[in-house]
Amino acid sequence: MSEDCIFCQIVAGDIPSRTVYEDNAVLAFLDANPLAPGHTLVIPKAHHERLNDTPADVASEVLSTVHELVPAVEDAVDAPATTVAFNNGEEAGQEVPHVHAHIVPRFAEDGGRPIHALVTDRPDLSDDELDAIEGDIAAGLE
Ligand code: 5GP
Ligand code: ZN
Repeated sequence: MSEDCIFCQIVAGDIPSRTVYEDNAVLAFLDANPLAPGHTLVIPKAHHERLNDTPADVASEVLSTVHELVPAVEDAVDAPATTVAFNNGEEAGQEVPHVHAHIVPRFAEDGGRPIHALVTDRPDLSDDELDAIEGDIAAGLE
């Protein structure tokens, strides 16, 4: 637990939450400032700041819970779709530094945008640049 982390305090029960799912490793609860009815957050109970810091088995448990919750959230609020996302790091908009998945119900004409609207200026990458990036990412897995 990280003392000054809001989500660790929710895990500890020191801050109340509307919990929709809990097991040994994972907690899911309604977002206090929802983008849509049913907006749900899924977190590991252990404090890990970003996906990058999260052990693979814990990340798998989080994703498995997301997978289970998506249809339940959609059914609960009669949503035909959801946007599922991690703000992974401060520059990506992460405000609470305890890794979490957002499940945001989406509705026709809800005024929301797709993930492609994240940036306004898309980079114009050459084939050489794309080749280099492809190689660097693949090399980073080795
Ligand atoms: P981030 O910007 O870090 O990806 O998202 C953090 C989310 O946590 C926000 O959507 C915000 O509304 C939610 N949040 C922040 N504090 C609390 C809290 O104390 N309780 C709950 N349930 N949600 C919170
Ligand atoms: Zn935490």
